[in-house]
Amino acid sequence: MSRSAHPAGPRYADVLPEGHYTAPPADLNALDPKVWPLTAARSATGAVSVGGLGLAELAEEFGTALFVLDEDDFRTRCRAWRDAFGPDADVFYAGKAFLSRAVVRWLTEEGLNLDVCSGGELSIALAGGMPPERIALHGNNKSSAELHQAIEAGVGRIVVDSFQEIVRVARIAERLGRRQPVQLRVTVGVEAHTHEFIATAHEDQKFGLALAGGQAAEAVRRVLKLDSLELVGIHSHIGSQIFDTSGFEVAAHRVVGLLAEIRDEHGVELPEIDLGGGLGIAYTSEDDPSDPHTIAKSLREIVDRECRGARLAVPRLSVEPGRAIVGPSACTVYEVGTVKELPGLRTYVSVDGGMSDNVRTALYDAEYSVSLVSRASDAEPMLSRVVGKHCESGDIVVRDAFLPADVAPGDLLAVPATGAYCRSMANNYNHALRPPVVAVRGGEARVIIRRETEEDLLRLDVG
Ligand SMILES: *Cc1c(COP(=O)(O)O)cnc(C)c1O
Repeated sequence: MSRSAHPAGPRYADVLPEGHYTAPPADLNALDPKVWPLTAARSATGAVSVGGLGLAELAEEFGTALFVLDEDDFRTRCRAWRDAFGPDADVFYAGKAFLSRAVVRWLTEEGLNLDVCSGGELSIALAGGMPPERIALHGNNKSSAELHQAIEAGVGRIVVDSFQEIVRVARIAERLGRRQPVQLRVTVGVEAHTHEFIATAHEDQKFGLALAGGQAAEAVRRVLKLDSLELVGIHSHIGSQIFDTSGFEVAAHRVVGLLAEIRDEHGVELPEIDLGGGLGIAYTSEDDPSDPHTIAKSLREIVDRECRGARLAVPRLSVEPGRAIVGPSACTVYEVGTVKELPGLRTYVSVDGGMSDNVRTALYDAEYSVSLVSRASDAEPMLSRVVGKHCESGDIVVRDAFLPADVAPGDLLAVPATGAYCRSMANNYNHALRPPVVAVRGGEARVIIRRETEEDLLRLDVG
């Protein structure tokens, strides 16, 4: 990724974060299909629509800030992942990216399974009608209440993450008279980054049990001794926003190595292997993710080869894409409130949201793009920083973006690729009211999560 520093940046580097931006795009009115939902289009009048509905009309009806979720886009991506992996594999959508009952229904209909990692997510999954056997429960510190809720509901798998949890799950299952299928989460010693993986410091994390040093093998011994647990497979998740499969290759090699060890020591061949999620998406036009078919083909080849090498039957493969399904399906619509030019630096464009509806920029310098969507403009590109309305100077929505120089209060901006980890990480900082999520399809809009109200805030504040 080649990005140039802001020409005037260094003078102010001590007070302003350094800029990262490329040259202005050739056409500020164009919508890059890599980052926009499938049905996004700019009409002849210049206004942008999604799902056949103008974003300006949606903003008028539902207010801003507003998440607009393209149901066709979401379902198309579900199908693409399902078809790419085929009937011998399972695709678990990672619910933490974004979960609501409507989304659970879509997933159920499209044949996907569902990962949850809390009692709250599990409740939504069950309320949305996901069959419990298609749900997996994750987490490094699931409470006894959450485990009880999951086992009682009959979830298809619990991914155990620690020695203590092995005992905890076993006791609860025993008390409920169940034999609970579990996978064991291992850390394989690979830390996946966007374009490389680094084989150091990787075991220094809170998730899973390390293969190196034998913790994972010891956990397998303990699980196999417990009658109320059925060990069905090994799970590995190497990171997020990954663009190539080299990290998965090392992970699969090591996980299959463990499967072979288990066969040799215990005489059992575990039937499942889960390689986790983390498959990257395009947040800006600079990002170049692979399509599900390429990823599926590559992961299958890797697993087949490793199993042949270890003389193991190929286990059932599962993957857990979250952002790669819902990320590009939504955009956030904001109204511009103020435009403040800092001569020689850039222009600050303030919108009616910010780190309460998208904390990713503040949290890990995530990059996004932004477009003027209520109208087209022929004005010159203006280097802008789109910021929120919160009391933090790090409250940045899009660090560096080119907007038309005539952008003004009352204009609507939309940030695409905000379907994952935005509404699900939304917070009430400054007692902000978390925005609604409106699903659109074929010219129809449906609120699937309503806007929070001041009454909601006051209801929690019991004096
Ligand atoms: C977060 C997570 C995922 C999904 O990650 P994405 O980057 O959204 O694909 C999948 N599996 C596990 C175990 C996770 O923790």
